[in-house]
Amino acid sequence: MKTSLFALAALSLPVSALAQVVIPESTATRVAASADRALESDALAWDFVEGITTEVGPRQAGTEAEARGREWAVKWLKANGFDNVAIEPFEMETWVPGDQASAGIVSPFPQSFVVAPLGGSASTGPEGITAEVVNVGTVAELAAMADGSLTGKIAYITHYMTPAQDGSHYGFAGPARWVGSGIAAQKGAVATVIKSVGTDYHRNPHTGGAGFPEGVKPTPAGALSLPDAANLERMFERTQGPITMKLTLTPRDLGTTMSGNVVGEIVGSDPSLPPVLLACHIDSWWNGTGAFDDGAGCGIVAAAAKAVSDAGQPLRTIRVLFAGAEETGLWGSKAYSAAHLDEPVAVGLESDFGADRIWKFESNFREANPALHNRIARAVARFGVSNGMAVATGGADINIARDQKTAIIDLQQDGTRYFDLHHTPDDTLDKIDPVQLRQNVAVWTQVVGILANEPNDIQAGE
Ligand code: ZN
Ligand code: ZN
Repeated sequence: MKTSLFALAALSLPVSALAQVVIPESTATRVAASADRALESDALAWDFVEGITTEVGPRQAGTEAEARGREWAVKWLKANGFDNVAIEPFEMETWVPGDQASAGIVSPFPQSFVVAPLGGSASTGPEGITAEVVNVGTVAELAAMADGSLTGKIAYITHYMTPAQDGSHYGFAGPARWVGSGIAAQKGAVATVIKSVGTDYHRNPHTGGAGFPEGVKPTPAGALSLPDAANLERMFERTQGPITMKLTLTPRDLGTTMSGNVVGEIVGSDPSLPPVLLACHIDSWWNGTGAFDDGAGCGIVAAAAKAVSDAGQPLRTIRVLFAGAEETGLWGSKAYSAAHLDEPVAVGLESDFGADRIWKFESNFREANPALHNRIARAVARFGVSNGMAVATGGADINIARDQKTAIIDLQQDGTRYFDLHHTPDDTLDKIDPVQLRQNVAVWTQVVGILANEPNDIQAGE
């Protein structure tokens, strides 16, 4: 109830008494207000992603560009009031894309295609490889082929993928890239080209990591843009004769180089309580500026941590982990877990799915700590977030939470646009929708604010 000045006057209270009427705001109210403010204006997440994409640009894992990204992030975290900001270096095996990437049909329908090397691809040498390209179909069809059946050939692998809010088609289509070239190499292929694992129709190939099993020598492996893959598939339909492709890719292995994780903290008032860990990754593929993947993620987690601290010092420390070298093999996530395994984390969360709105909240303690799960679900409902039934498993950068078997929360983002942009030259700042980004930061602020002020064990509620 509001007390009007007229009512105060009627009570004949001296005006000075007004200053002493302080109604203490509860922590929950202050956190909620901070989340609501983020919904109106989130300058900080935008500032991070604009800054790193503009002043650093692409940040290929293990290279000097990624090192510049780390230095930039350290300065940014310090400038924005984070404590204990540090780089935690680690060694990694580094692959770089080289400067030649072309795929051309030599016969029967000569023309050039747009291709990008896949991470882990071998080099064709600058002279390229000219060979018959064979349509092997999907990964499952490829796997069923006889050993030696692709000897001397370039394998072409296809898949089916459409946009989905939960991005689930990535799981169906991804193996074309993750394991396709390795299986083709086992069947004798001299090289592999895949239909890009993506959902757009631009002439932008989608790169990403390609794995080769132990004992299988990596071969050259590239992704064709989706329109070019469609063109090649039409060629297979229109000719019975062989199709010859010239593929040139010149990636290099640099051997062991240094990368590093960047950490920073909002220090809590009770150091005996395990911290809340918020993760993202700082590296990107070379071909875009890593705005969606994953500059936005680092901006979101840092902005949320800061917004929670603006609501008053939290009980628990909030630690941000900007992991290094995620794209080429989760090097930073693994190194962080190895270095900190004996330091308990209360709960781990990761942001690495673009900058669009959060639509679903999931935890892995829905059954063990229903009171906290439900409190969070109720608190984010006003931002249009649903209460997910699935058990959260966390993203790539929170290996430590899985290794410690601790609490995990997944804040699921709308992935409808994500695979139009993922790992392409189109992953740039202009693709970020500021309104959706603000909703995202508001939800993160609300969730992190509750977690960081929770006195009980988050996983078990005791
Ligand atoms: Zn990512
Ligand atoms: Zn990625």
